[in-house]
Amino acid sequence: MVAQVIIDISNDGVDRVFDYNVPDGVVLGSRVAVPFLNRRVQGYVIGVKESSDYAGALKDVSEVLDEGLIGGEMLALMDFMTAKYNLRRIDVLRLFLPPNMREGGVRELKRRFVSLNPDFGIAEFAASVKKSAQKQLELIKILQDGGDYLTNLNALYGGTVNTLIKKGALIVSDRRVRRTPNSAYGKTGGRAVELTADQKKCVDEIVKSGRFLLHGVTGSGKTEVYMRVIEHAVKNGRTAVMLVPEISLTAQFYKLFKERFFDDVAIIHSGLSAGERFDEWSRILNGEARVVIGARSAIFAPLKDLGVIIIDEEHDGSYASESNPRYNAKDVAAFRAEYNGAALVLGSATPSVDTYFSMKNGEYKLLSMPNRVNDKRLPKIEIVDMCRELREGNAGLFSRRLEDAVARALKEGNQAMIYLNRRGYSSFVMCRACGYVAKCSDCDISLTYHIDDGVLKCHYCGKKFHMISECPECGGKNLRFGKTGTEKVVKEMGALFPKARILRMDNDTTREKDGHEKILGAFYKKEADILVGTQMIAKGHDFSDVTLVGILDADMSLYFSDYRSSERTFQLMTQVAGRAGREKKSGEVVLQTYAPRHYVFRLAERYDYGAFYEKEINSREVTKYPPFTVIVRVLVTADEDAAAMKAVRKIYNGIKEFAEKTRTETGRWDNGGGAFVYIGAMRSPVSKIQNKYRYQILMRVKNDGNAERIINGVYGIADAGQGKGLTVFTEINPQSLV
Ligand code: ADP
Ligand code: ZN
Repeated sequence: MVAQVIIDISNDGVDRVFDYNVPDGVVLGSRVAVPFLNRRVQGYVIGVKESSDYAGALKDVSEVLDEGLIGGEMLALMDFMTAKYNLRRIDVLRLFLPPNMREGGVRELKRRFVSLNPDFGIAEFAASVKKSAQKQLELIKILQDGGDYLTNLNALYGGTVNTLIKKGALIVSDRRVRRTPNSAYGKTGGRAVELTADQKKCVDEIVKSGRFLLHGVTGSGKTEVYMRVIEHAVKNGRTAVMLVPEISLTAQFYKLFKERFFDDVAIIHSGLSAGERFDEWSRILNGEARVVIGARSAIFAPLKDLGVIIIDEEHDGSYASESNPRYNAKDVAAFRAEYNGAALVLGSATPSVDTYFSMKNGEYKLLSMPNRVNDKRLPKIEIVDMCRELREGNAGLFSRRLEDAVARALKEGNQAMIYLNRRGYSSFVMCRACGYVAKCSDCDISLTYHIDDGVLKCHYCGKKFHMISECPECGGKNLRFGKTGTEKVVKEMGALFPKARILRMDNDTTREKDGHEKILGAFYKKEADILVGTQMIAKGHDFSDVTLVGILDADMSLYFSDYRSSERTFQLMTQVAGRAGREKKSGEVVLQTYAPRHYVFRLAERYDYGAFYEKEINSREVTKYPPFTVIVRVLVTADEDAAAMKAVRKIYNGIKEFAEKTRTETGRWDNGGGAFVYIGAMRSPVSKIQNKYRYQILMRVKNDGNAERIINGVYGIADAGQGKGLTVFTEINPQSLV
């Protein structure tokens, strides 16, 4: 038999299928060791056949390491992803396996286990045992209820254990133990509530299968709908996966689901330890766990016979992977749903403009839940004009309105969430005398001051620098601080409300293992009154006693030079606001902005998604942005500025030539006559990251039946522009254009 093997080395030259003999046969998807360039390397069997077309003598597979790790569905998915995103096969295969497993770095955990020997006459033994050996009886008694780890018993009973083993009363065996991720906090999900009429309608539709957009306002009870359709799938012997946009949200859902589905639930995200991730993954592979919750990467869970795939907060940017290998979990979900005949549910209070547009074109069936459960009102949003605050003498971070509202919430024993999407203390440090700004040595970006650690940090590469007390250029002592971050908010809140217990949640406070759970768990248990945080606190969280949400610097995401900035701002405002007043207590939202009359805020204030969508889709059509076009970016990075520039120029010329060939009778490509509506080459907005110079070519391609062919053409041209010391990446509709 001949095995077709993908070698586990990520390199363009090796990205081919190699044939090897397997005299004893092998099953598809196995992990094998093979000789390759005189080395022993690992590879994956993606096909088997009777004979090879290869002219030379085939080498033998050295060893089969794991049988059938990767199923047929995943192999088909590999083909789909390599073609769609122009990826190497091995980079895709690596996504399907727990990290570290490839190198053999993580394995199952075994522990020595001791239990009673059923063939040993315990009763007679007990009768004959001497008074002085009471410890032996005690130990037997403990083990009568089940076994225990040898290490535990040794600590408690020392030599007694060995004596009993020698006498034949105890059996020692090695058993696999599971490393279980914890589920520290969250609501109880065991009790199944009675569905509202809207929820019932949704469940009834989804279980009939198909592709759905579930548009339900915050607090409309989408989670209960998800749980019911998952229950339905599991009852029918099928499996389910649900994606949430943030690791910080998995804990809450994990607890809820555990209480409804028990050990059927597995959790997958990058915050787990390698051991936990391996064990959870194995439980899914062998069918022990049939319901998976997780962040983006959970879409690759080795579930068989999927009955339903749910993507919660589908508008969220985190479903697109922005580093190599780049992919979008929504595309993968659509592929797996199709392959398995599973229902696909995209849920959101603020669907992405793209998804809503697809729905209108008939790609999804719309399910609506326009009201909160029990007809609770959505929290009232009050827009505060910060220019006016300033005019009236308040130059502080907080408006008087917000200050009053926090005071009230605290007095009434409720909780508040304060949102600001900027971490650190201040966004930059500048010398007032000469204008010097502290910058990262490796990146073209100003450093953020982190007062808690007393350092300047680069938010692109993570490098830390000493805080300066005077300007290194002119010696000036008068420093100016940039825009406020979460650390400063905590400090100023603390000064205003010295008795309040304040927690901060952002990238800096959640680094350690289970960091998210610790903070959210404490807030959930009311060990704190105020939670200050970045977009991590914006989504999905369900806290009963939060009655106030404050949004600082709401304009922040509005002026990014990105066609999605209005959409993102509208989504963020709606999501953050949705954290308030979710249970019996009503909620209020104070939104601080310098542009109080901006339509995004006006529509968010009314929760008018429909009007927002109409406005946005019209402007996208006029300006020729997605979904009417596809944005393609070729990003070129290199150690040498000149090398990057040269490479980008060559690729740019190639693409221009290609664009010219796409033109129709009606005219030149840049006159609306071809597939392209725009091509431009430029330095990237962040022109250097980690000492790599960055250039990009941006294109917009008409989104019609031709787009796929055109994108493939661009892939080819970009790949041909690869070279030594260069990295060339092509991305489709990238989330970020820095
Ligand atoms: P969403 O995900 O749509 O924002 P959730 O699913 O978190 O909303 O539901 C909001 C709240 O309503 C939760 O506290 C949930 O327990 C509760 N809830 C959901 N469905 C029902 C129901 N049918 N009856 C009573 N309470 C419900
Ligand atoms: Zn840096």
